[in-house]
Amino acid sequence: MIIELPDNVRNIITRLNTAGYEAYAVGGCVRDSVLGREPQDWDITTSALPEEVKALFNRTVDTGIKHGTVTVLLGRESYEVTTYRIDGKYSDSRHPDSVSFTRSLVEDLKRRDFTINAMAYGNDGLVDMFDGAGDIEKGVIRCVGNAEARFGEDALRILRAVRFSAQLGFDIERETMAAAAKLAPRLADISAERVHAELNKLLLSDHPERLITLHELGIDRVIMPEINEIAEKGELPRVCSLIGRSPANICLRWALLLAAVRRSRDPKEALRRLKFDNNGTYTICSLVRLTDAPLLGIGEQSMRRLINNAGRDLMELFFMYRMAADPDSDYNAAYELYNGIIERGDCTGIDMLAVNGRDLMELGIPAGKDIGRILSELLDRVLDDPALNTRESLLPIAKEASGL
Ligand code: ATP
Ligand code: MG
Repeated sequence: MIIELPDNVRNIITRLNTAGYEAYAVGGCVRDSVLGREPQDWDITTSALPEEVKALFNRTVDTGIKHGTVTVLLGRESYEVTTYRIDGKYSDSRHPDSVSFTRSLVEDLKRRDFTINAMAYGNDGLVDMFDGAGDIEKGVIRCVGNAEARFGEDALRILRAVRFSAQLGFDIERETMAAAAKLAPRLADISAERVHAELNKLLLSDHPERLITLHELGIDRVIMPEINEIAEKGELPRVCSLIGRSPANICLRWALLLAAVRRSRDPKEALRRLKFDNNGTYTICSLVRLTDAPLLGIGEQSMRRLINNAGRDLMELFFMYRMAADPDSDYNAAYELYNGIIERGDCTGIDMLAVNGRDLMELGIPAGKDIGRILSELLDRVLDDPALNTRESLLPIAKEASGL
């Protein structure tokens, strides 16, 4: 097996080797290379201690020096160079209490989670102690060593197993699967941010329908009771298949999932729990809220009202969402109607009215909640009849509405 290392990576490895240290590309980049995929970033593992690495390169940053990681800067690129490591005991199912450095590559590879992630590649070729290449060939995710012990050390690995299976379209090997099911309750110890990051990667993967594995393993009851509820209603296969056929947009896929329990659960609850930011929460909740909004066969007036209700910025995603949720219907006519409204520039929101709050105050309407109420009334009229959206038409209506 020959892997074409990028020049910078080869140069870092060779410089370390020349100084008498071992060095290898390791982990995700080797896995992706063996798979024939383009790696996102190249990590390097070495027998050199952090200080020894720093002495060999001009520009370095102490990004994670306690854990043995030095970032080497070459041109505009940066590479994490990490000293061979043995992780200490994990008492909290997440962080090793201590790490110790070692001069043995095998020890470093043993601490890694899955065989496919435990391969190294250097000037002497591929080092593959756990048959990661064989597992790639077979398409399986398998723990390095004893699966129960490995998940017991770090429960996040359980979620990583499902995520890699979704990204690669791989099955989880039987013993790894059994251990994951057994230790799933330990995921309660993992921070919401990490769970969120893994679930996002899972949902954005090429095989998001594999989220069904979360239910098969009982992970959902620990971190996403919503999924368990969908399963109890017998709808999980349908929802997974919708998500699997939908465009790879994170808000859209979350909305498809959470819409399936919208009658019994506020989507905001799950999103807050997973520490979504306000933007994401707003977008997903809006899509879920509009799951049943009339769309097919509606007229222009209703379409303008819908655009105002959803917000113009959401409409493209909203159409994508509705088409994904209901793949058997034809949304072309509805989309053309919407598009015509946008192209004509019809008013579809308060911000597009020909008059604003200041104009109303100049009419003598006092600042305060009346202004908002009257603007809403004007908008209501204009949504029905866009031709009314001129100052000449609206100011008299405003005056009348104010009772002046
Ligand atoms: P990606 O970056 O695409 O998510 P990756 O395999 O590069 O995939 P990282 O989280 O970047 O994953 O980790 C790099 C490597 O570190 C992994 O390939 C694996 O060898 C090791 N690793 C990462 N997280 C763990 C963990 N929780 N337990 C054991 N080894 C891990
Ligand atoms: Mg990575």
